[in-house]
Amino acid sequence: MRRISAVLIHHPILDRDRQVVTGAITNLDLHDIARSAHTYGLDAYYVAHPIAAQRELATRVRDHWLTGSGSRRIPDRVPPMQQLRIVSNLDEALESSGPGTELWVTSAKGGDRALSHEGARERLGVEGPPILLAFGTGWGLADEVMNRATFLLAPIRGPRADGFNHLSVRAAAAIIFDRLLAPR
Ligand code: SAM
Repeated sequence: MRRISAVLIHHPILDRDRQVVTGAITNLDLHDIARSAHTYGLDAYYVAHPIAAQRELATRVRDHWLTGSGSRRIPDRVPPMQQLRIVSNLDEALESSGPGTELWVTSAKGGDRALSHEGARERLGVEGPPILLAFGTGWGLADEVMNRATFLLAPIRGPRADGFNHLSVRAAAAIIFDRLLAPR
């Protein structure tokens, strides 16, 4: 089984006009995706943000739950937070994940080279370098991230005729973790 981590990217991401922007860290993204990552046995959950003040905010939230009153009030919140790593950018997350780490990206849009979730599960199950699974904020990952990836994972799709599938990143992460890692 290959090691797998996740990274939530706040820059470069797209806005509704497909302009490259920087997103803001939200408290929910820290907790929810950390709990999903812990549940499915990921090695680490990286939150990447280029602005120091944003990283400091995320660090304060993490420390509140790791060593502050939160850890005493709700001890169950501690283990997921121990896997939360605050970094400046994607490269820091790739470096921390280990030599040769493969970048896999996600999006609500498909692509002709999209890797099915079953195919991803199979690739995870054999020996190989670590994997870093990237999720975006805003309207999705910018092309400069998408183009660096070894694989684009197939989008999560529902049965709707109109094809609406723009999930929150929290929901998308949980569904993809389950598809790739849930015991069968
Ligand atoms: N239109 C954007 C896109 O196509 O990615 C939606 C962005 S969504 C608010 C933020 C992130 O959640 C995306 O960058 C992607 O990582 C993930 N995401 C959202 N819907 C998804 C789906 N249907 N399939 C796979 N990932 C999804």
